Amino acid sequence: MSELVALKHEFERIENIIVVDWGVSNVCNYRCSYCPPDTHKGDCKFVPIEDILAFSNRVVDHYKKKLGKEIYFLYTGGEVTLYKDFITLIKAQHEAGNKIGISSNGSREVEFWKEAKHYLQHVSLSYHSEFTNIDHFIDVINEIKDTSYVHVNIMMHPDHFQQCIDAAYRIYEETDEITIDLQVITKNFQEPYDYSDEQRQKMLDVSKELNSKLKLHRERIGYRGLMKLVYDDGSERLIKGGEVITEKLHSWTGWKCNVGLELLVIDMQGNIKRSWCGDAPVIGNIKDEVLEFPTEPHVCKKEWCTGGVTDTMVTKYKK
Ligand code: SF4
Repeated sequence: MSELVALKHEFERIENIIVVDWGVSNVCNYRCSYCPPDTHKGDCKFVPIEDILAFSNRVVDHYKKKLGKEIYFLYTGGEVTLYKDFITLIKAQHEAGNKIGISSNGSREVEFWKEAKHYLQHVSLSYHSEFTNIDHFIDVINEIKDTSYVHVNIMMHPDHFQQCIDAAYRIYEETDEITIDLQVITKNFQEPYDYSDEQRQKMLDVSKELNSKLKLHRERIGYRGLMKLVYDDGSERLIKGGEVITEKLHSWTGWKCNVGLELLVIDMQGNIKRSWCGDAPVIGNIKDEVLEFPTEPHVCKKEWCTGGVTDTMVTKYKK
């Protein structure tokens, strides 16, 4: 029987991208019942723009100038669009030749998006049934969809199930150039909600239906995509990052893992890590005067990869 020897990206060029996954604060204007308070309680204020740009320059020096990599800043939160210097930040990073993506609840006014869209390659918008104004959400999508690549996540609250289904159809009908997913939610990002069998089936059916008729007219250039399982007999199989975990293939003890070369994680306190899994030591803090960025892969010591889909979607190989 053939043996798995590597997990790679479907497209080789993606291995040359470093994603800087940055949670810049936990300030948020929503209080979704399923979100842990740590993600919206507001005690980690936004990092000053001078600090973000100074650190960005160090990332550019190491990863772009020294290692020849493409840099992709991915901002999450909290709600990053509430940052008073957000447009200044993304404009500066865009003009420095970097790509930028964000996760957002889409609540900022359309005028804001009219400007921001020019600097954002990817925008992942989440529909939160307890707070989202659907008319505004659709207006925002239609404002940015021809400039940024837009993905919509419908957060499927079981108590507002039909509202979420209706929102998915309305968003699909009244926009184009988007991809869309119906996301199962967990209480505080941990304990799964009790969906009925009927609700689970409905989510699968609607997801399948909408994904079979996406209205995409522009070619999409991603910073991540499908992964590829590579076996010692030379055979390969394409797989989604999440499926690697579902199929329980996510054990790579002793393998080389490109965390720190394809992924940097920066938490709300400014601590810099190679990944979410915490297997490699913390690199330092964005304010440290001396920082040593990785130049080699990390050898995995964990029995199971615990960093979720983001960590899974990083190249790993046995030798
Ligand atoms: S646990 Fe960490 S080091 Fe190990 S394979 Fe996963 S991401 Fe890489």
